[in-house]
Amino acid sequence: MTLELTKFNSEEVERHEVLSQEEKSDESSHSITNRHTGSSQSDHSRGSGSIEMINQDDQEEETLLDRGAASARLRKQPPSQPFKSRLFIYLFLAFVVGTLIISGLSKSQTPNVNAKQNSPESKSIRNIDAVADPNEIPTFSEINPKDLLPEISEPKEKRKPMEVQFHKAYHATKDIIEFYRKRAGETSVPVKVETLGQSPENRAVLGVQIGSEGPNKKGMWINCGFHAREWITISSCLYLFDRWISSEDQDVQDFLANVVVYMTPLANPDGYEFSRTTDRDWRKNRSPVPNSRCKGIDQDRNWPYKYKMKVDISSNPCQENYGGKAALDAPENKLIFDWITSKKNIGVAMDVHSYGLEIATPFGWTNKHADHFTEQMKAGRNMVNAIKSIHGTKYKLGAASSLIYKTSGIASDWSYADLGAVCSYTIEVRGGLNDGTEFILPKKEIIPNGEELHAGFMSLGHDLKNELCFNFKDKK
Ligand SMILES: [Zn+2]
Repeated sequence: MTLELTKFNSEEVERHEVLSQEEKSDESSHSITNRHTGSSQSDHSRGSGSIEMINQDDQEEETLLDRGAASARLRKQPPSQPFKSRLFIYLFLAFVVGTLIISGLSKSQTPNVNAKQNSPESKSIRNIDAVADPNEIPTFSEINPKDLLPEISEPKEKRKPMEVQFHKAYHATKDIIEFYRKRAGETSVPVKVETLGQSPENRAVLGVQIGSEGPNKKGMWINCGFHAREWITISSCLYLFDRWISSEDQDVQDFLANVVVYMTPLANPDGYEFSRTTDRDWRKNRSPVPNSRCKGIDQDRNWPYKYKMKVDISSNPCQENYGGKAALDAPENKLIFDWITSKKNIGVAMDVHSYGLEIATPFGWTNKHADHFTEQMKAGRNMVNAIKSIHGTKYKLGAASSLIYKTSGIASDWSYADLGAVCSYTIEVRGGLNDGTEFILPKKEIIPNGEELHAGFMSLGHDLKNELCFNFKDKK
């Protein structure tokens, strides 16, 4: 184990100290003007940014050090001989402490394995195990979600009203997670807020269920925040969640009587936080990429359906549409995949992006239309009309390959073809001014944008109920 760590450290130090010409040219050649795929930054600005990125990585490591994460400490230290000795002592101490805790637990009153896995102590043991070998870090996704404690709320007698003030600003990741957990305990609607697992930088990836499951209930998956700089998408999920758990309106009651909502409301927590604190224009997650100085996988180019077609998927880790080495190797995607594929009867899937005022049906990877294109367009038109009725905002509707551009490995193609959601879409919501700041939607538009989406989803709820988007007879 020590040998592996030493090797890892050497590589890290080299990576930080030596910027090869090849990598520089990789980074500086990065310039994609396409609004959805790429950055509006020039070659020059992106090139100079590459130097800053190294410093940013150092800052991140400092933050991790503050948290006492042993992995960060290991990466930060030079690979000196005394360090190896100290490392060995740390690991030995960690092992001794871990062993003592385990033996203590085994003597406790609940000695079964599941209880141990769910205890806070065992979580710290698992962290130590994972940290001891840095190669284990990307395998956080392999943690069985069942090993993690879900935060399940018991329905309360009454609903607290919507927290309107909260939706007038953009928020930090930890405040968003806290909001979901707190509000889940303040509603009579059955709500589950689960931690599906951890992101590469150890933030919770949430799965939120709104409404109860049942043999006659139809499922709707709403995903928000794949792309870090599209802040409004995360605010969209927050608004919808809050409205649906607090509203006494009849349309919401009818909606939740027929539909169970599965929401992955913060699909890229590391990227979002990085966009908030360091690089507003960041798009991908923050996965380390082996043998590259550049970080991050584009989570909407990493889904298994037609991934291998590699349409608009870059194999260069320094590009914004880098799709990883294999489908689902973005740990957040694997967590979401495992969770959503465990759900039944999903007829609607919506992947929320910004910007463009567009609703796109499958497919992205080909000009061919889906078998259910007629149904998708009909439900899409109903949604467009419902949205327009709120503030007059006009959305365009069409197949993704022509309305947006051709892409493969996207979530909305996968949710249609593999998950079986008949009405599957990518929606591009409101954007900022058309002057290069399109990803920056003024915060005063968060609520109007949410109100429009709410109307759109009420419409999709109707089309689930009336079997346009889902028919039990179609299911085996
Ligand atoms: Zn996007």
